Amino acid sequence: MSLKGKTAVITGSNSGIGLGIARELARAGADVVLNSFTDRAEDHELASQLAAEFGVGARYIQADMSKGSECRALIEQAGACDILVNNAGIQHVAPIESFPEEKWDAIIAINMSSAYHTMAAALPKMRAAGWGRIVNIASAHGLTASPYKSAYVAAKHGVVGMTKTVALETAEEPITCNAICPGYVLTPLVEAQIPDTMEKYNMSREDVVKKVMLERQPSREFATVEQMGGTAVFLCSDAAAQITGTTISVDGGWTAL
Ligand code: NAD
Repeated sequence: MSLKGKTAVITGSNSGIGLGIARELARAGADVVLNSFTDRAEDHELASQLAAEFGVGARYIQADMSKGSECRALIEQAGACDILVNNAGIQHVAPIESFPEEKWDAIIAINMSSAYHTMAAALPKMRAAGWGRIVNIASAHGLTASPYKSAYVAAKHGVVGMTKTVALETAEEPITCNAICPGYVLTPLVEAQIPDTMEKYNMSREDVVKKVMLERQPSREFATVEQMGGTAVFLCSDAAAQITGTTISVDGGWTAL
């Protein structure tokens, strides 16, 4: 499957799943635009490494996905945007009555509203190009819930709903819009949840991984960023042209329980 000639914009892609997806899209031949809110030499270096490794165009564009204007500016600066992967996301774990308001607002903005802004900016470009693929990175928490993750679960359910809506709005066009729902993938975002969860449940790190995280994942294995990338490449393929408005779970059986 070749994505040569296509440009992919992946939000939140200097780390974890976003970088894994950018790598697999580049391996499939797409030019890639990496993004995060930082502007460090190593961010730009990541893009140079992808360009050298896969022989594709690769750029890093700084934009803060908590701000609507910067979400839209990212798409404008990217030029072409044939493939849009909404991946940027953060997490905060707390009971709802003590959930900090600024964390609530940030999670809703970065994990959900950013996708509204980027999709609104990207769709005219996809229509002009006569082809488009939108891949929203939701979560098993877009389909189910866990305690202490009210903002995250609300945002991810919102992403799943928005995915279905945009799929209906583009259904008669050569554009698809789907969501990938990962289970636990061992990335910096998941690492950061371990200390809080250890405290909440009064557990060791090993017990949090086994009894809290992978307890929900019947395979008892973390999913990998490469598997997320492979699923995104599939959703960009011709085989997936009639797949739209749906979720693909990559969660080791979590949502089958
Ligand atoms: P991560 O922390 O490694 O990556 C998050 C990315 O988002 C980073 O590149 C970070 O720089 C970027 N980001 C954060 N705030 C941003 C902002 N304001 N503007 C622009 N970029 C910003 O985490 P990850 O696990 O790779 O998560 C990626 C996505 O996958 C998230 O949407 C997350 O909710 C989702 N997800 C992760 C898991 C998992 O187990 N890791 C499971 C389900 C869903």
